[in-house]
Amino acid sequence: MTKRQAKPASERQSARRATSERAIERVPRGGKRKGKGGVQREADFVVIGAGSGGVAAARRAAAHGARVVLIERDAIGGTCVNRGCVPKKMLSYGGTLAAILSGCLSHTGGHEDWSDAIVRVNAEMARLHVAYTHRLQDAGVELLHGEATVTAPDQVQVGAETIHARRILVATGARPQTLPVPGGELAGTSDDVFTWQSLPASVVVIGGGYIAVELASILSRYGVKVEVLVRESRLLERFDHEIAAALAEALAAKGVRLHFHAEVTLLNQANGAIDVCYRQDGNGNGNGGGEGGKDRIHTVRAQAALAAIGREPQWEGLGLAALGVEKAEKGGIRVDRSFRSRVRSIHAIGDAIDGLHLTPVAAAQGRWLADRLFGRRGDRADFDTVPTAVFCDPAIGSVGLTEHQAIEAAGKAERIESVVRRFVSLENRFAGSEQASMVKLVVNARSGRVLGAHMMDNAAPEIIQALAVALRLGVKLSHLRTTVQLHPTVAEELFG
Ligand code: NDP
Repeated sequence: MTKRQAKPASERQSARRATSERAIERVPRGGKRKGKGGVQREADFVVIGAGSGGVAAARRAAAHGARVVLIERDAIGGTCVNRGCVPKKMLSYGGTLAAILSGCLSHTGGHEDWSDAIVRVNAEMARLHVAYTHRLQDAGVELLHGEATVTAPDQVQVGAETIHARRILVATGARPQTLPVPGGELAGTSDDVFTWQSLPASVVVIGGGYIAVELASILSRYGVKVEVLVRESRLLERFDHEIAAALAEALAAKGVRLHFHAEVTLLNQANGAIDVCYRQDGNGNGNGGGEGGKDRIHTVRAQAALAAIGREPQWEGLGLAALGVEKAEKGGIRVDRSFRSRVRSIHAIGDAIDGLHLTPVAAAQGRWLADRLFGRRGDRADFDTVPTAVFCDPAIGSVGLTEHQAIEAAGKAERIESVVRRFVSLENRFAGSEQASMVKLVVNARSGRVLGAHMMDNAAPEIIQALAVALRLGVKLSHLRTTVQLHPTVAEELFG
C-alpha cells in the first residue's frame, strides 16, 4: 500500500464499531443472575455472529417467542454490510454513473471521486448498523458485544457471562484466504479495499472468481490501472463459459489487463511498490507447452496487490472441535440437512458451513432453522436454483445450469440446446458505447424446458432474480417466446 491510500483501516473500523457498540448498549438485558463465576443467563437460542444469517435466525426465533441472545465481536451486519455486498455495490454504482456520465457528457470527462464515494458508503453502513440494532431490539433479541466461546454443548461464554442455552447457532462467516507463497502477506484483501481513503495508481489482483472480477472492474472504473493474474484459462469458473469469455473481452476493452494461466510464485516489496512474480509458459498458457516446454517467470509491478483467492469458514477458536463438532470437506462445519452438527444442540449456517456462500442463502437458512426449532415447520427455500450475480461492469447474472453442467447431466451434447443473443443496449447506444450485452438460455432440446439463464448486462442481476421464479416453475422456451415483450428493455431479449 502506498502513502496516498494509507489512511489506517483501524480508524474506520473503530468508528464503525463505536456506532454499533453504542447501539448495542441500548439493548435491554433480562434474565441475568450473579453467580460465583460471573453473570449467568438463560436462553433458548444463542446465536454467535450478527451477520446476515445470524440476524435472520435471531429475529425469526424471537418472533416465535424464544429467548434469544445474539453475540457479535465486531460491527453488526457481518461481511455483507461491512466488508461485502453493501459497500461493493455502492462503490460499483459510483463507478457506473461516472462511466455513463463521462460517455454522455464528454466535456466533463472526470471519474467518480473515490474518497467521496467512501464517505457515502460509510454513511450507509452507519445507517444499517442502527437499523439492524433497532430491528433486533424490536424483535426482543438481546445483543451482546464480545468474543464467544462454546464451553459445553449447551453453554456459551462471553467475557464474564455464561449463557445456558437449549440451542446454539454458529453463524460466524468466512474470511479471505491468504496467498500461500513467499511474500503473500504483502497482498491485501477485499476487506482492505473498503478501508482505503484514496486509491493507488495501479493494482495487481490475484484470482479469477467473484471478488477478483468485481474488484478489478470497480477499481478500474475509478481510474486505477488494473492487472489480473488468473491461474486458470478463464474467469469465473462456476459460470457459463460463453458469458465468462464475453466478460473477459468487455473488461479488456475497458482497459483491465487479464493474464491467464498465471501462477503467482512470489511477492516482493520494491521502492514503495510491490513486484508480483508469476509463472507462465512460452505460449502464455502455463501448461509447460511453450518453447522447449519451459516456464517463464514474469514480474508485474504495482502500487498495491490484492489476493481474491477464496474465503475460508472461520470457526476455530470457538472451542467447537473439542466438543466433537466436525470439519467438512471444504473447511466448514459439517452439518446435516437440518444444519445440525455432530453435537445435536449445535447448529451452523451460512459461510461457516460448506456450500453456497451468498448472503441470501445464509439468511434463508437462518430463518428456516429458526422456524423449525421454535415455530411451525416452514417451507424450505430451494437451495438448488439459486440466482447469483457478479457486480462488475457489465454485470453478470445467472441462474440454473451452465451449458457444460446441463450436457453433463443429460449425458449427451445433442440433448441440450443453447440460445445465445448479443446486442447493444439502448443505454450503451445513448452513451456512445458499442459494448455488447449477452443473453444465453440453456434448454432441454426435447422438452423445451429452460435449465439455465445467463446474462451479461448491467440490468442482468435484476432480470435474473425475477427469472429464477420462472425457472423453478419449469418455464419452457415456448412460454418465453409467447410472452409479449416489454419494449424497450434489456429483458425483452429473453423473449420473442
Ligand atoms: P472464488 O471461489 O469465487 O474464486 C477464487 C479464485 O481464486 C479462483 O479463480 C481460484 O482459482 C483462485 N485461486 C485460489 N487459490 C489461488 C492461488 N493460490 N493463487 C491464485 N489463484 C488462486 O472466491 P472469491 O474470493 O472471489 O469469493 C469468495 C466467495 O464469496 C465466493 O465463492 C462467493 O460465494 C462469495 N461472493 C459472492 C459475491 C456475489 O454474490 N456477488 C461477491 C463476492 C463474493 P482455481 O479455480 O484455480 O482454484
